[in-house]
Amino acid sequence: MESKAKLDLDQNWDAIIIGSGFGGLALAIRLLSKGLNVLIVEKNSFIGGRARKFTIGEYDFDAGPTVLTGTHLIDDLFKTHAKII
Ligand SMILES: Cc1cc2nc3c(=O)[nH]c(=O)nc-3n(C[C@H](O)[C@H](O)[C@H](O)COP(=O)(O)OP(=O)(O)OC[C@H]3O[C@@H](n4cnc5c(N)ncnc54)[C@H](O)[C@@H]3O)c2cc1C
Repeated sequence: MESKAKLDLDQNWDAIIIGSGFGGLALAIRLLSKGLNVLIVEKNSFIGGRARKFTIGEYDFDAGPTVLTGTHLIDDLFKTHAKII
């Protein structure tokens, strides 16, 4: 699906992150928690990268993580108290 979003480069971004997978989202949370102005650019029409499922017929398939093994990393991210708008 083609995105209709227009990239706002007039704004003073402190960081522009390419990709909204776990990596991009985690980095954004950490930078936001430091008060930085962050833009995430994603080529797909949805966020999450490989953390999604797709359906063929009556079957659902995981495209990536089924079980999160590093839950302490997610706990750590939630402790940053980043304000996400
Ligand atoms: C089949 C499979 C099973 C897995 N199972 C597990 C599991 O059970 N447990 C576990 O912990 N991990 C699992 N993983 C690993 C986990 O999915 C990855 O480590 C994690 O999702 C990677 O996140 P990422 O942000 O690095 O990359 P990605 O999730 O790949 O995100 C990258 C993002 O960048 C975007 N992007 C790329 N290029 C551009 C561009 N030029 N412009 C704009 N956007 C762009 C992509 O569209 C995507 O959204 C699995 C992976 C696979 C493939």
